[in-house]
Amino acid sequence: MTTVAQEYPYVATVSNELLQEVCSGCFLRRSDVKRCARCKVLYYCSQQCQKDDWADHKEECALLANVSPKIPTAMARLMTRILLKRRREEQGTATPYTAFNTRTFEELMDHKANIQKDATRCEFFVCLSQVLYEYVGPDLLRPAENLLSVFGKIVVNCFSIFDDELTTIGTGLYIGLSGQDHSCCPDAFVLFNGKKALLRVPHSNAKYSRELRVCYTELMQLNTRRGLELKQHYYFNCSCRLCQDLQRDSLARSLRCTRCRDGVCLVDEEMRELVCRDCGQPQKITIHEALSMNQELEWELQRCEKDKTLQLNRQLQETIEKYEKFIKVLSNVNMFLAIYGQRILSGAFQMKKTDLLEKYAFVSVRAFKEFLPVGHPELSIRLLMAAEAAASSPHLTVDVVVAVDEAYSSLLISHGPQHPLSSQAAAMQANIRTRLQNQNAC
Ligand SMILES: [Zn+2]
Ligand SMILES: [Zn+2]
Ligand SMILES: [Zn+2]
Ligand SMILES: [Zn+2]
Repeated sequence: MTTVAQEYPYVATVSNELLQEVCSGCFLRRSDVKRCARCKVLYYCSQQCQKDDWADHKEECALLANVSPKIPTAMARLMTRILLKRRREEQGTATPYTAFNTRTFEELMDHKANIQKDATRCEFFVCLSQVLYEYVGPDLLRPAENLLSVFGKIVVNCFSIFDDELTTIGTGLYIGLSGQDHSCCPDAFVLFNGKKALLRVPHSNAKYSRELRVCYTELMQLNTRRGLELKQHYYFNCSCRLCQDLQRDSLARSLRCTRCRDGVCLVDEEMRELVCRDCGQPQKITIHEALSMNQELEWELQRCEKDKTLQLNRQLQETIEKYEKFIKVLSNVNMFLAIYGQRILSGAFQMKKTDLLEKYAFVSVRAFKEFLPVGHPELSIRLLMAAEAAASSPHLTVDVVVAVDEAYSSLLISHGPQHPLSSQAAAMQANIRTRLQNQNAC
């Protein structure tokens, strides 16, 4: 695996809800961040980070102080940072910016025609303009044509910046990287170290090329959803190999066979009856029932997304009960079930429930391996999580050793040997081997 390009954002902003936890300079999560004394909105982990961000923050700081205690949305702050920077560039007071591949702000597509036909986006733009008017006043927003163009460039070209746990911490405009086209079977993956983006290719001696494709969306979702998202968000139809794979969604919604061990029954609206892919035997459950079960779980996942108010312990218990109900019917490559299983692991980690960690360590691994390609950062993180969960057990088995080795190898591909997560996995590998030797010696 090779890092073929690295890029700092043209501008970036930390999500509003994380402003007090993430440094607005380096975008790392720090417990000792200090707030900017003047605007009292942005936080920095060091004087150096504050100094490095000052060129972008100076004018913004005064604007934020003006609207205090209100904090404009992250999108409004991002737009403003761009508008201010563009103005400084025109006035010749900004440090000239060149992307690693020489792409410029002017070259970004704004998809104006598509946006003008897109009712949801237009509505969003109107709301945003109102926020901006209140935040920065009229001068910076003129001419209106330009504002819409900048908006278009941002919504289509921005990246969500995520941390090592795949939590989104902010948004950034990476002018160079946003030039890479999309494929659901990508050649390269984008990874973040703070706000620095890395473009990595999963084989050695790779070189940067404008032709390398990256994936713009999540792969742990149905093809049909992904297609819709690409169309609605980026205005194109994807026709890659994965999008043409009609079996992928049937496998993502599959049920377990009631007649044989580990058999999988594909689920598709077009089917008449449910048959095991492995033993060929028909199942009692109807296609309609199978689809409803998937639908039920999908709604449950959506509900979990929104509802974060439940007490963690009660929430975890409820999740386990529902999971146990679903696993009786759905297969272990069912995509929704895999995502749902991760909720149990996250909860068990937070509450340090060793028994649960051991029991549910590997529940989602097969599905993640099925649906995420080698080199995908998410695959490595899921494997690492499973290995950590299994390793928390007081009694080690060979499975744990295999899982830790697998997570480490995957991290070497996706993240590289220098990454902190790889070091973490290497340390765990050494620790497990020592523990196993001691255990066998007893
Ligand atoms: Zn910092
Ligand atoms: Zn400030
Ligand atoms: Zn595709
Ligand atoms: Zn079967």
